[in-house]
Amino acid sequence: MTTPVRVRFAPSPTGALHIGGAHTALFNWLWARHSGGSFVLRVEDTDRERSTTEYEKTIIEGMRWLGLDWDEGPYTGGDHGPYRQSERQEIYHRYAEQLVAEGKAYREGPAVIYRVPRGERITVEDKVYGDIDFESDTLKDIVLIKSDGSPTYNYAVVVDDYTMNITYVIRGEDHVLNTPKQILLYRALDWRLPVFAHLPMILGPDKKKLSKRHGATSVYEYRDMGYLPDAIFNFLALLGWSPGGEREIFTRDEIAERFELSRIAKRPAVFDTKKLDAINQEHLKGLPRFERLEMVKPFWEKMGLPLEGKNEEHLADGLELMEGRGRTLPELAAYSDYFLDFGVVTERYSGEDIDEEQREEIRPFFAELLQLEEWSAQAMEDFARTWAREHGVKLKRIAMPMRWALTGRKVSPGIFNLAEHFGREETRRRLAHYDLV
Ligand code: GLU
Repeated sequence: MTTPVRVRFAPSPTGALHIGGAHTALFNWLWARHSGGSFVLRVEDTDRERSTTEYEKTIIEGMRWLGLDWDEGPYTGGDHGPYRQSERQEIYHRYAEQLVAEGKAYREGPAVIYRVPRGERITVEDKVYGDIDFESDTLKDIVLIKSDGSPTYNYAVVVDDYTMNITYVIRGEDHVLNTPKQILLYRALDWRLPVFAHLPMILGPDKKKLSKRHGATSVYEYRDMGYLPDAIFNFLALLGWSPGGEREIFTRDEIAERFELSRIAKRPAVFDTKKLDAINQEHLKGLPRFERLEMVKPFWEKMGLPLEGKNEEHLADGLELMEGRGRTLPELAAYSDYFLDFGVVTERYSGEDIDEEQREEIRPFFAELLQLEEWSAQAMEDFARTWAREHGVKLKRIAMPMRWALTGRKVSPGIFNLAEHFGREETRRRLAHYDLV
């Protein structure tokens, strides 16, 4: 029988959940879900000065937003909390004592330090990078317990990963140099090693390590910019991993199904905002209509548009007409503002480019249009084509002012679809404002 896969995400609550952290969490989650294993969340809050519960909360919120649920942890009423290193102090001291008793570690005041043996070869058998060799002679002794009594990262992580039965340690490649130290501690404690897999670094478009200089780095910034969690999930999964083939749009389940550690790339991944936008747009298109409506609403609200008393069904229909326009939620919200309020149309467009001559020419068309027996896009379009032909007028000469009057925009969904959606009276009102009927 193979040992069940157990992975963990071990954030330090010293900042928000940033893209790199979310990427690591996601890959662990995927490996757990792919293999039917368990995903553990462990908050590494031993650095008491820099750790805050506020950051812990935002990290957890970010994970929830991305749908990265973990499988166990202390029960906190209805839910599993994360494990916290600060609640495990006693365990770290116990094993440190053991190493001192065995003569493998020594004290320096209240601190406990591991004596690195000389002349040992340490090979990190990395799932992604292959074998990486180190010599123990290049390493200094390793502090286990600091003089304030708290454990160091390299020590606590070993005690935790072993006692929590972690079988795969999947983390950023910035930890590669820590791994030989951790392997020495596993050896000293006579513990079996987990499998190590280091993930490629994420770079900005300028090929430098992704950082604040490149713009938004925390997951919440992306949420607030109107990206969908499923799109961020999809995008992050493709940073340094690929299922092979050209396809780029996947659901969570499809990714989990295809996920393999052997397909993780060694080469650093470049964070490409254009690609993120494209992926987001596809996920936005694929949303069920009412879900899309619920997600757009806060952005309409932020724009100060009136939502109260609006018919949900009708609004959702309006968004359907947008047919996938808009890469992000605020973009879609902005493109569709005229569904909520005619005021934004009149503010944007004063009728400046329709001259009197054109008005005279097309007014009869609109007068007849508003009398059409059947108020449907198809009937309107048929009528418009016939009218334009009979009067020797280009269809565009009618459609453009109509588009401006209904939307205040140069680009919009099909103008007769919009008219059908608005209904006869609202269409009349908007045309009348621009003196077209
Ligand atoms: N707390 C460490 C970090 O956030 C965890 C590293 C690890 O996964 O071992 O970088």
